Amino acid sequence: MARNYHFISLPQDKPHRINISGQEKFGHDKYQINNQRYSGKLFLNLTVIAPVSVNSGIKVMGSDLAQQTLDPNSAKYVATISLIQSSVQQNQRLIIPGSSLKGVIRSIYEAITKSCLCKTNAKVPEGYSECKDTAKLCPACVTFGAMSWLGLVHFHDAQYDPDNEKPGFQTGLIPPLFSPQPDAVDLETGEKIYYDSNNKIRGRKFYPHTYNEEVKPTFRIQQAELGKKFTTYVNYTNLTKAQLGTLLIALGQDPENRLGLKIGSGKAVGMGTLKIDVVKVEQLNINRYLSYNSNSLDLEGENLQIFILDVIKSAKPQPEPKQPANQPRKPIMKSANQTLVQLKQLQELKEILKI
Ligand SMILES: [Zn+2]
Repeated sequence: MARNYHFISLPQDKPHRINISGQEKFGHDKYQINNQRYSGKLFLNLTVIAPVSVNSGIKVMGSDLAQQTLDPNSAKYVATISLIQSSVQQNQRLIIPGSSLKGVIRSIYEAITKSCLCKTNAKVPEGYSECKDTAKLCPACVTFGAMSWLGLVHFHDAQYDPDNEKPGFQTGLIPPLFSPQPDAVDLETGEKIYYDSNNKIRGRKFYPHTYNEEVKPTFRIQQAELGKKFTTYVNYTNLTKAQLGTLLIALGQDPENRLGLKIGSGKAVGMGTLKIDVVKVEQLNINRYLSYNSNSLDLEGENLQIFILDVIKSAKPQPEPKQPANQPRKPIMKSANQTLVQLKQLQELKEILKI
């Protein structure tokens, strides 16, 4: 089977780690209303673009699922099918666990910021290793959490086909898939797959949305139907504007870099593509605790789009205004609100994940 993944290069600068321990402004214990921090909820629709199946790790007899299983060819419910790899469910309804979603969004957030390389058994270059100390956390660990640190975002389980009282699912077919190990060598070129000729890791691995080769499907799996929706929401607490903007870019909301997500089984054969739409934002009003009149600001439609664009803009470096050549350059001010996004890596990711 041909390889179907790409590497996003690591930013040249090592992870930019900050100290969050003992700093009140990052805590969960209270909302910060004076520091221009953002707290609220993002409501998401996730549309299935390529079959989505989050493996439950359990194979079941097809007859157990027959009542709900729609055959994609005949559009009839299947009476008897053999063993099937089941997807994660709750009350007989497919779900995407919040933890799976969070992992996928985190990996994009990591790739487009100066963040550490975590949860890998590959050789990590000096200075890029996983954050272990709340006194030194990279941008992804600050937002998504690290050891002894909960993070500032919380993803809830996504519910399948919410308008349908008893949604079904499809059976799909998937070939046997093996993840290559970090030491793998390309059999044709003899080159290491994960490392360049200087033995430096090529970057972070991502799967594209397409796969062109003929594959022999072998296993049946339970999957969400194309075009159907999952819905969920994400809580965010005390994010800077740049952090919220980077989160929205990772969720694919930047009109210049519309990204689709890859989730679950079969990513190596083009499965698992979701398109995200943020359909509503419930932004906690900073006056919430100062007055009894207002509690939160619901943003939808045009106001929502204006909000999203504004927040995303503060996450990306803007072109510097031209300065006369003979004048000394102004020093760059570092502040909590500095931009986080690395444009080179975002561009590389767009090549792979654009929809
Ligand atoms: Zn980190």
